[in-house]
Amino acid sequence: MSLVVRGARLDGEQVGMRVEQDRIATVGPDVQPEPGDDVLDAAGMGLLPGLVNGHTHAAMTLMRGYGDDLPLMEWLQDRIWPTEAKLTADDVYWGTRLACVEMIRSGTVRFWDMYWQPEAVARAVEDAGLRAAVALPLVDGLDPDRSDALRADAERTLEALAGANARVTPTLGPHAIYTVSEKSLQWVAQLSAERDVPVHIHLSETEGEVHDCVAAHGVRPAQYLDRIGLLTPRTILAHGVWLDDEELVLVGERGATVVTNPVSNLKLAVGGVFPYAKARDRGIPVGLGTDGAASNNSLDLFQDVKHLALIQKHAARDPAAMPATEAWTVATGQRAPLLGQSGLVAAGEPADFLLVRLGAPELTPGDLTANLVYAAAGSVVDTTVVAGQVLMRGGEIANEAEAREGAIASARRLGVIG
Ligand SMILES: [Zn+2]
Repeated sequence: MSLVVRGARLDGEQVGMRVEQDRIATVGPDVQPEPGDDVLDAAGMGLLPGLVNGHTHAAMTLMRGYGDDLPLMEWLQDRIWPTEAKLTADDVYWGTRLACVEMIRSGTVRFWDMYWQPEAVARAVEDAGLRAAVALPLVDGLDPDRSDALRADAERTLEALAGANARVTPTLGPHAIYTVSEKSLQWVAQLSAERDVPVHIHLSETEGEVHDCVAAHGVRPAQYLDRIGLLTPRTILAHGVWLDDEELVLVGERGATVVTNPVSNLKLAVGGVFPYAKARDRGIPVGLGTDGAASNNSLDLFQDVKHLALIQKHAARDPAAMPATEAWTVATGQRAPLLGQSGLVAAGEPADFLLVRLGAPELTPGDLTANLVYAAAGSVVDTTVVAGQVLMRGGEIANEAEAREGAIASARRLGVIG
């Protein structure tokens, strides 16, 4: 039995699609179901690639709406850190399951995660059916004496994650240059090279981070990472808001990827805008992320792609600076191969795709891509398929209630809600 899509619209044509196991076998006008096939009747639906969330902390859904609008340090010290200190593996599991429901509903098929209890994250990903690159946040408080113990944790986690589901990619997640000692960053670089494992790090999110880096190391953040050997084609830099021209040249030469998180940047008021056009012109691969649900507060990438386009236009004082077609390629991973989604619906590609309701008011009338970027929310997604498995069909997700209830129980236990 194969999964077959019947009567969908793809690039203006009416097509069918046959999935064999976890790959797209054929797409075209002549594909028809055979007896025994599992048929997705896609009349009135658009067939689209899934979206990829290049930077998040999924289980922070548990802290969604908790202490919003407080000054940053008050929010972290009084709300987020005390709550995180109480987190169990069970809490992270349910927070991630809730995040997965939200992502499946809004068309995300893969996410890059950095959060505590990564084995619980991997279990949630496996149970939800999504794909994810999972990292333990590596933090030693800039104390080199804690570096060896941290390395042992990192290696143990990589091994545990390597034994997880094939949809889970183990990664290394040094939190940031202001929370991880140079000694630790050095072994991260070494481990990443030896084991060919991606590195996911926050970089150049705030102007203060740049000033502190120059004061401590005499160079700017990207130059500091490069000196350590951590700026490579395996590196994902989350944010990159304050990268200057020289750093952009360097990042481009080294082949590192930047994931921009426009909504999180606006909400946390970082005061700058990621220099997308310059990054693109330097050949830097770029992806899109939500960041965690405590600082966004949504995991619906349709909101982020709209903000990406708007903020780039606004900063450039030019409505042509970021066309919808280009923003869409960023959201679907086409401009960042390391993120792992080709953004293509074609024979031979992994069977990760969406069906969207073309009759939705937000998609009516006008150009589909423009409507997806400027008008739609994730609610236009009707069906989400990952690795040939139908995770949402007609807006229904199996075990959604269980994920909600588990997350609510955890939020209550943590004291986030009464
Ligand atoms: Zn983050």
